[in-house]
Amino acid sequence: MEKILDGKKVAAETEDLLKNRVETLKSTKGYTPTLATILVGNDPASATYVKMKGNACERVGMNSLKVELPESTTTEELLNKIFELNSNPEISGILLQHPVPSQINERACFDAIDINKDVDGVTCLGFGNMAMGEEAYGSCTPQGIIRLLDYYDIETEGKHAVVIGRSPILGKPMAMMLLNKNATVTICHSRTKDLKDHVLNADIVVGAVGIPRFIKSDWIKDDAVVIDAGYHPEKCGDIELEGIADRCQAFTPVPGGVGPMTINTLILQTVEACERS
Ligand code: NAP
Repeated sequence: MEKILDGKKVAAETEDLLKNRVETLKSTKGYTPTLATILVGNDPASATYVKMKGNACERVGMNSLKVELPESTTTEELLNKIFELNSNPEISGILLQHPVPSQINERACFDAIDINKDVDGVTCLGFGNMAMGEEAYGSCTPQGIIRLLDYYDIETEGKHAVVIGRSPILGKPMAMMLLNKNATVTICHSRTKDLKDHVLNADIVVGAVGIPRFIKSDWIKDDAVVIDAGYHPEKCGDIELEGIADRCQAFTPVPGGVGPMTINTLILQTVEACERS
C-alpha cells in the first residue's frame, strides 16, 4: 500500500481524463464548458486562488468567465450578478470566492447559486443533499479528500475518524462525508476539551484547524491515516508531520496532498454539471 497520498499525481491524472470529456462536450453541446468565478474586492490571496482556478480550467480546455466586482458591492448587486449567471445556459458552474466584504450577506449570496451550478458545494441545499446521501456537488476540499481516500483504497468503514475543525466548507462537510462512508466520526473544534485524547483514538485524522502544526505528531497513533487540509505560507499544514511517515498507514504531504485536489474537484464538478445540463 502506498504511504503518500499524492494529490498532485491524482489531480494530474484526472486532468488528462477531463481533457477528453471537455472535447466531447464542446462537440455535443456546441459551446465550451465554462466556470464563472466571482471575485469581490481586492484581497490578494483571493485573487491568487481565483487565478489558479482559471488556470486549471484552461489546462483542461474549459473557459473561465472572470467576474470582478468592487469592494463596495452590495448584497443586492452581487445577487443580481449571480441570478444573471444562473440564467446563462453556457455557464456550467459558479464559484463565489470566499470571503466577500463584510457588508455583503455571504450566506444569502451562496444560497442564490442555482443548485445545478453549485460546483463548489456551498449552498445549504447542496450541503443538505450531500448529508442525506443524495446526489450533490460536495464542498471541494472535503470532496477532494474523499476522492484521494478512494483513489488509494483507504478503508473508512468502521474506522474512527476524528475531524479537527467544523467550518461550513471543510470540517462539517468532511465529517458528513466520512459518516456517509460508514466511519464513526468525532468532530473537534475550539471548545473541545482534551483534544489530544480524541486524536490519540483516531484511525483517520483530518486536520482542518487553520493553525500551523497545531496537531502534534505524538498525538497520532501508529497506523493512522493522516490527512492535513491546512496550508500555510511557511509551507506546512495544520499537522506536525515529522516522524509520521514511518509509523502511519498513509499521509497527505504538504504541499502536494489535499491542496491540488481542491481545485481539481472544482473542475471535475464543473465538467459533471455541464454533462448533466
Ligand atoms: P476556519 O473557517 O478558520 O475553521 C477552523 C476550525 O478550526 C474552526 O471550526 C475552529 O473551531 C477550529 N479551531 C480553531 N482553533 C482551534 C483549537 N485551538 N482547537 C480545536 N479546533 C480549533 O478554517 P477552514 O476554512 O476550515 O480552513 C482550515 C484549514 O484548511 C486552514 O489551514 C486552511 O488554510 C485550509 N484550507 C485549505 C484548502 C485547500 O484548498 N487546501 C481549502 C480551504 C481551507 P470553532 O468552530 O469552534 O471556531
